[in-house]
Order: sequence, then C-alpha cells, then structure tokens
Amino acid sequence: MAYSKHIENPDVILIGSGVMSANLGALLKRLEPKLKIQVYEVTAELAQESSHGWNNAGTGHAGICELSYTPKREADGTVNVQKVIEIYEQFSHSKQFWSYAVAEGMINQPRDFINSVQHISFVHGADQVDFLRARHAGMAAHHFFADLTYSTDAATISRWAPLLVEGRDPAVPIAATQMASGTDVNFGVISRKLLNWLHAQPGCGLATNHRVIDLKKTATGWNVHGRDLTTGEIRQNHAKFVFVGAGGGSLHLLQKAGIPESKGIGGFPIGGQWLVCDNPAIVERHAAKVYGQALDAAPTMAVPHLDQRVLDGKKTLLFGPFAAWTTKFLHRQGSWLDLVASVKPHNFLTLLKIAATNLPLVRYLVQQGTQSMADRLAVLHIFYPNAQAKDWKLIDAGIRVQAIKKTDGEAGIVHYGTEVITNADRTISALLGASPGASVCVNIVLDVIKLCLPELLATSEGQARLAAMVPTYALDAKLAANAAHFQAVQRATDRHLQLI
Ligand SMILES: Cc1cc2nc3c(=O)[nH]c(=O)nc-3n(C[C@H](O)[C@H](O)[C@H](O)COP(=O)(O)OP(=O)(O)OC[C@H]3O[C@@H](n4cnc5c(N)ncnc54)[C@H](O)[C@@H]3O)c2cc1C
Repeated sequence: MAYSKHIENPDVILIGSGVMSANLGALLKRLEPKLKIQVYEVTAELAQESSHGWNNAGTGHAGICELSYTPKREADGTVNVQKVIEIYEQFSHSKQFWSYAVAEGMINQPRDFINSVQHISFVHGADQVDFLRARHAGMAAHHFFADLTYSTDAATISRWAPLLVEGRDPAVPIAATQMASGTDVNFGVISRKLLNWLHAQPGCGLATNHRVIDLKKTATGWNVHGRDLTTGEIRQNHAKFVFVGAGGGSLHLLQKAGIPESKGIGGFPIGGQWLVCDNPAIVERHAAKVYGQALDAAPTMAVPHLDQRVLDGKKTLLFGPFAAWTTKFLHRQGSWLDLVASVKPHNFLTLLKIAATNLPLVRYLVQQGTQSMADRLAVLHIFYPNAQAKDWKLIDAGIRVQAIKKTDGEAGIVHYGTEVITNADRTISALLGASPGASVCVNIVLDVIKLCLPELLATSEGQARLAAMVPTYALDAKLAANAAHFQAVQRATDRHLQLI
C-alpha cells in the first residue's frame, strides 16, 4: 500500500520507514500528542530494507545466546557478562514499549511480530565447553538470566534441539545453554504497524515513493527536498528537527547535510545471505535460535546461527548469515556506485587505512563471496551434522553499512555498533551502523529524544508519559534490589505480547 499524506512545516521529519523511524515517530507522538510529524520513504511499501523480516535474523537480541557479546575469558577464567546484561535491559525497553502499544490499542496481534522461541548457545570441543560453563556461571548469577540452563548432556541438548545432536561424533564434547524466554521478532511488521498508527494521527503524514535528495540548514531547522518518484515532482518541506533513519541511505544524506560532525565518516557495506530450509518436516523439528562461535575472521554480525523464524505467518528455518561482497548501500533502492559515491576528500584516508588494516576482514569477505553450496553446507554441518543440500536454498538477506570513522590516534576504525551522529545545535540526528540494531531501537531513539528534544521529557507530564510507555526506563533494572519490580513489569509485558 502506497501513502501520500503530506504535512507542511511539521515539527519533525523522519527519513525512512524502518524500525528506528517507526519507533521514534510513535514514541514522539505519544510523548507530545500536539507534535506534527512527517515521514518520507523512498520505496513504495514500508520497511523494505534492513528491518524487513527476511533481511535480518529477527533475533530479539537480549544477550542470552549471542556469544559475540562475551568473546573471551578473563585471566582468572571468568567471563565478563556486563555487555549481555546491558543488552537484556535495553531489549526489555523495546518490549515494554511494544506491549504498551498493544495495551493502548495502537497496534494489535502481537504474534504477527514477536514470538517466543528458545535461545540456545551451542559449542563443541573441550575449550569451548569450558568457556560456555564459565559464561553460564557469570550470567546465571544475575536475576535476568536465573532461568538460563547449562548442559553437556547429549540427551538434554537433544530435547532442546534434536538437529544439533543427531549424527554427531559422540567422542567430541558438546555443551549448550538454553533459555525458553527468547524471542523471534519481525521488525518489518512492528515498523509497519506503528507507522500505520502514526499515519492515522492528526498532524502526521506519511509519503512513500518519496526519495529525500537534499537537506539544507536554515535559521530555524532544515529544508528537506524530496522527489516524488511517481510524478517526478520535487517538493520542499521544513522541520525544526530531522531524524535520518535511512539505514544504508543515511551516510549519503548526512554528507548532503554537510554538518561538520559528518566529516571523516565513511561507510563499508556488507551483504548477507541465508540458507533457507524448504522441508517442513525439518522445520517442525527445530524450535530454537542457536548461536555458535565466530568462525575465523568473521565479523560479529556474520556469526552463523540456526534459527526458527516466523515469517509471513509461517514457521521457517534459516541458517546464516553468510557475508557477501557488495558495493550497494541499500538492498532495493541502492546503486552499485554507492560505495564509490560515498568516498569524499574528508573520508578518503580513513577508508584507505581501513582497507590496509583490515586485511583479514577483506580476505574473509572475498572467501565468503566465492563459497560454493558445499562450503556453506560444511558450516551448517557444525550445527546440524545431518543437513543435506537438497533441503536448503540460498537467498539474499539485507545489507549493513558499517560506519567507519576517524578516532584519536587512528586514521580509521570499522564500527560494528550503532553510531548516532548529531549536529551541534541538535536539529539533525542520523543513525549509522547496525548492531545490535533493531532490538535496542527504543533505547536508541530515546537517547535521540533526550539529546535533541529534551523539552518533551522536562515536564512531569512528559516523565509520566514516558514511565507509562517504558516503565523501567528510569529504573536500574540491573540491580538485584530492583529485581522484583523488574520481574513484575516483565510479566505484564509478556502477557500483552502473548509471550511465554
Ligand atoms: C543480515 C542482517 C541480520 C540482522 N539481524 C538482526 C537481528 O537478528 N536482530 C536485530 O535486532 N537486528 C538485526 N539486524 C540489524 C537490523 O536489521 C537493523 O539495525 C535495523 O533494521 C535498522 O533499521 P533502520 O530503521 O535504521 O533502517 P532500515 O530498516 O534499513 O530503514 C531505512 C529506510 O530508509 C529508506 N531510505 C533510504 N534512503 C532514503 C531516502 N533518501 N529517502 C527516503 N527514504 C530512504 C529505506 O528505503 C528504508 O526503508 C540485522 C541486519 C542485517 C543486515
């Protein structure tokens, strides 16, 4: 469905209809119902890029199973679990806001976009088994992960996920941790639901087939120029605040805006591919998201996992992602010239340094791009020893544009995390990068609101509205003293979202 509702001179313009703009728009309108908000999207439909269900892994990243957040053991043999505790808390903020949206009737049918699924970490070999035991000990001591179970017993692991165990050499030790309250999220569906709600609100507009092509600073905000792709018409609009949530398109728009904060920043696209299982008998036997260790020089976002997904109302089984070489910044509306066009005098040296200092990553991408089906199946066999090529097909997933920036003492560094770039007078914010991404979108956009629109939270009314939407936002839910309060909120959240 295409949209063509335009609001002139809104307070806020959101560029892009992915999960970031959708959550920011909905949160802003609930915080201040008088706000006028306009959303622009270049594609005909909403959320067709990274947030689309097939273009990401749909893991509700809560730190339960992703070993990349706890990569190694400390000298004393323990595993530092601070990062997973943080991610868990941040993802709970997203769930709380979505549960509020359901409870308030803004959106319906939560199972369209979020479903419970076990989160499992799975390792093999004596070293990795020891590592997982230490990780489990660190995590299970925290109230977030009190239900995390550890096992080295093949029969127990087989009960959780039989495909992991069948056909495996019994001489090689294995271990797994399991938690039943993990989630699979369709970030495209939640984006569309929130934007459809926003579109129906007074003072809010949504225009698809509308490519933002330029941004010009004014004394009171930004002139935003866009092209209507159906008529070719160029339209100009003005807002006091602009959020560039254009995913792979954000860097280009940031460069157009020309804010000093964007100088030196470059982008490096990494494509993704999945193996999809077409055999319903196999799909039915795997009800888990299973993450393993990173292979070789794989960047953290390419750590493979074997995932049950719920997409288009149907269970499916995905394995990957495999990284793929690309020069496009967007999957659907991108151009092969995107990478070249993003190179500017101010980021040229940064990009050159990245190429020189990340040779293992470059080698990894070349090797991944030239893999055969047999190579990919060999990786799948690490998780699912009995997998057969006939049951799987390769499909393209989305593209991530990793932010590359100058840092003190270094000409360039690849950022696997999310970067929010805001100008000095806080009239424009742009989101670059992808990880941990969509799962922590509510935290990310609340940071944007705190920085750029603090007046919305300055009143007791604003604070009360935020507390209703994200009840534990002001609470340090990590503290044991707050465990009971946090768990009560979590039970209510899970009830509204129909999670276990
Ligand atoms: C392979 C892969 C796996 C991932 N797995 C996970 C996961 O398991 N869990 C998780 O939490 N995150 C995951 N992520 C990250 C997650 O997908 C992203 O963080 C998130 O979707 C980004 O949302 P966004 O709104 O910033 O961008 P997007 O969803 O890409 O939205 C940007 C929108 O802007 C539009 N746009 C671009 N340029 C313009 C323009 N000039 N004018 C108008 N509109 C424009 C685009 O068409 C698009 O609709 C994964 C990403 C990838 C690539």
